Amino acid sequence: MEAPCMNKLKQKEFTLASVTDLTSPSSSSPSSSPVVATFSCVNEVTELRFQESESSDDFSFELSSTQLFKLGPLQFVCVSDKDNSLSRGVVIMFRDDKESKDFSDSFGEWTKDAFKKGPGLPNGTVSDSTSKFDNKIEAASAKMYFHYYGKLLHQQNMLQDYVRTGTYHAAVMENRSDFSGRVVVDVGAGSGILSMFAALAGAKHVYAVEASEMADYARKLIAGNPLLAERITVIKGKIEDVELPEKADVLISEPMGTLLVNERMLETYVIARDRFLSPNGKMFPTVGRIHMAPFADEFLFIEMANKALFWQQQNYYGVDLTPLYGSAHQGYFPVVDAFDPRLLIAPSMFHVIDFTKMKEEQFYEIDVPLKFTASVCTRVHGLACWFDVLFDGSTVQRWFTTAPGAPTTHWYQIRCVLSQPIHVMAGQEITGRLHLVAHSAQSYTINLTLSAKMWRPGASQGGILQTSSCKLDLKEPYYRMSQPQVYPVAQEPPAQPQDLQIQSEDLEEVELLQQNANAQL
Ligand code: SAH
Repeated sequence: MEAPCMNKLKQKEFTLASVTDLTSPSSSSPSSSPVVATFSCVNEVTELRFQESESSDDFSFELSSTQLFKLGPLQFVCVSDKDNSLSRGVVIMFRDDKESKDFSDSFGEWTKDAFKKGPGLPNGTVSDSTSKFDNKIEAASAKMYFHYYGKLLHQQNMLQDYVRTGTYHAAVMENRSDFSGRVVVDVGAGSGILSMFAALAGAKHVYAVEASEMADYARKLIAGNPLLAERITVIKGKIEDVELPEKADVLISEPMGTLLVNERMLETYVIARDRFLSPNGKMFPTVGRIHMAPFADEFLFIEMANKALFWQQQNYYGVDLTPLYGSAHQGYFPVVDAFDPRLLIAPSMFHVIDFTKMKEEQFYEIDVPLKFTASVCTRVHGLACWFDVLFDGSTVQRWFTTAPGAPTTHWYQIRCVLSQPIHVMAGQEITGRLHLVAHSAQSYTINLTLSAKMWRPGASQGGILQTSSCKLDLKEPYYRMSQPQVYPVAQEPPAQPQDLQIQSEDLEEVELLQQNANAQL
């Protein structure tokens, strides 16, 4: 049985300033005369009809398969995707705020009715609009995440990573032919910087999709660059949820987190690929690699062991803390800092993640078998990791690396410290496993195990292993600033006596660490 049209009104009209058809090349300029948009219910089908006042040309969208997206106070995109294939998209301009708001309210009302009727939906159900993103990510995590990226300070931090931003700029400009005349989607546009690089390289149109409040700043920034602004549309929303009026020839994005995968934004990048990229379209970046090598760093090990010693206290304000010592000793956070590559004790290996092929689900669990050959006789304290990405342009292939020894980026490098060191001789094999399990707070649980045979006669036959492991949350790295910044004394606020004491103690510790580090190198 078909339900009748629910809307009491049989028709509602709006006069629009203009309509631009995005899907018909012959009419890609705005209509010259006002257009009347009419919501109506005809033969039990709820539709939105557009008719230009001085033309006989009219067309309609079935509301059950139509979506409306706000581009600005007076501008919307209306997209119809009947049978899941984009059949038509138009940009609508309103004459004033009130009309724009009335229209979008009416759209909501009439669309609701269209869905209540349920034409074409299996079993007559209302379409499931819950987002792929919301299904796997805790609301609280997403809220904090987008709040963070909504702040100019954090976008500025990324923009001021000149190694990062400069490499993106070079990769785009060196590969102009990949951008010139092409449709580009900027996946997680932030301030819109990569969209503007793409427009500078001659992109025909860039859709800058950004979920955080930064989208409003991006609009403002882009509007202030008028030569680029006419070719960029900022869309506020999640990649997983938004609809775009056309397919992209190129995706550009900066979705990398610590250890490449932190923040789980690579999943968003490949979802964007599946939703928006044309077959044979390009992805900037194209491939990522996680590099890994065992390291020896006595100071870091002692520093971590000392942190855990806090939980050895049996009388902390009358409380015994020792029940948690075991957990703390097992390791509680990965360490992020820039270290000297001479701390690595074996040639590194890497694990490739091909953004053009990887399925979203393959990011849920990443399992990397490890095998190294020690170059020196030492104690191994853990695994050091960094990443690089490739911009596989048609003209130039450019790598961007966060390796130790290369110019430092805001990602630094990450080290997982074992609960116990293992002893190796030069030439000895170290095996193990790096097992990353995604969690709903947009990060991963890191499980690391490293093993080496005991070094004594007959050990190679006996298979006696030393094994050490740790379990860490990638969401909570410890930023270990080994290079303290020195501020001119005159700029410092007047210090309290106890502050002075703390500062000098800190400095002594840092100096000691540095002296020891130098001695070790
Ligand atoms: N492209 C910018 C910003 C990179 S930071 C630059 O290179 O400077 C990543 C951005 O992606 C953040 O602003 C974040 O809010 C956005 N983002 C992350 N996940 C997203 C998603 N699922 N949909 C839309 N935007 C997302």
